Amino acid sequence: MSFSSFGLSQGIIDGIKAMGYTDPTPIQLRAIPLLMHGQDMIGSAQTGTGKTAAFALPILSKLEKHQASGPRCLILEPTRELAAQVETAIRDYARFTDLRVAVVYGGVGYGLQMDQLKRGVDIIVATPGRLLDHIERGTIRLGEARYLVLDEADRMLDMGFLPDVKRVVERCPKERITALFSATVPPEIDTLIRWAMKKPEVVEIGLRRSPAETVKHVIYPVAEDQKSDLLRSLLEEVKYDSVIVFCRTKHRADRVGTMLKKNNHAVAILHSNRTQREREQALQGFRDGKYEVLVATDIAARGLDIASVSHVINFDVPQHPEDYVHRIGRTGRAESTGDAFTLMVAEDAVHVHAIERFIGKKIERIKLPGFEYKFTILFDENKPGALKPHERKAKQVRLSGGYHFGPTGGRRKRR
Ligand code: AMP
Repeated sequence: MSFSSFGLSQGIIDGIKAMGYTDPTPIQLRAIPLLMHGQDMIGSAQTGTGKTAAFALPILSKLEKHQASGPRCLILEPTRELAAQVETAIRDYARFTDLRVAVVYGGVGYGLQMDQLKRGVDIIVATPGRLLDHIERGTIRLGEARYLVLDEADRMLDMGFLPDVKRVVERCPKERITALFSATVPPEIDTLIRWAMKKPEVVEIGLRRSPAETVKHVIYPVAEDQKSDLLRSLLEEVKYDSVIVFCRTKHRADRVGTMLKKNNHAVAILHSNRTQREREQALQGFRDGKYEVLVATDIAARGLDIASVSHVINFDVPQHPEDYVHRIGRTGRAESTGDAFTLMVAEDAVHVHAIERFIGKKIERIKLPGFEYKFTILFDENKPGALKPHERKAKQVRLSGGYHFGPTGGRRKRR
């Protein structure tokens, strides 16, 4: 099935061609017909599956041309990076139409956003807080919004935006078409769905919980004080094109980024303490290949459209299993392949088990050949008599006298 069979407008078909897309992805195959028919829908596909085009193409097609009536489509995003990225995608898809799009997010001045809004827009891509500011100032009115997209709803929940999202939904007309995307559907999102949507069809692509199938996952157990050394050795050993290193906190991201810079890696750092300009420069430089390594925190990196990531390295194990799936979503995007490495210390065992339960499979533990490990106990967890997580810490201390691995164990070939 090709894009031409959906009944999309000619302008949008031309836009798709210009993007170089030939075949719709599975989520596009299922979601585009629903939205073309004005059906509310819930998409549980993850980022990287082509979900932006899945909602944008039919909506843009239906909006067809610019109207002075006010915004007819509102897309809510959890972060400004995502909002900016979706706006860029929409501009690309709509480039052969006269539709106008504006992006509205916090952390920057109002000037540019006001200018865009004054000129009249058909589509607004926004984060909830700044959108509400504009609504209160009277610079955005949603009375004509016929399409509402709630993207990454689970992340909006995580970030505490759900009350704002509800306030925004209340400002939209009741007669509207609503699409909601969420990798997981916790009870709060379920309540939102029942409140905000009309008999939505659920489009579930693959197993809701499983990360991209094309990604090879492995865990590198290591002592806390050897994490930085192991990361450096991994980056030397593995042939990568571009890699995102995820850290738990902004402080750790700064520390790891600085350490890698000292080791002559071209590194960009992305977290929410950096200014908007720094974040944009980091992202653009990474996309352009100026930086080979992007060190990021979860919130900053959520859903980023970076097509060519060959590797994701979890310097810290994510505390929430969904974050693992989202991080890994950076690789294997739109069906290309990637590798995902997770550094694990003894205290992480409980989180790793939660991740394995969540994704429904065990992740292989491997050793980096040639690396001088202090202890091996973490590799033994499946063997009879292995230590329970709470027993390991004490044992590690006893073993930390310099233990070397033999030649076996998970050697990765240089590609
Ligand atoms: P998304 O899941 O929306 O973040 O999209 C992930 C990536 O897939 C983006 O780089 C898109 O440009 C790309 N993409 C979306 N749809 C297609 C398609 N039908 N064919 C090829 N690439 C696509």
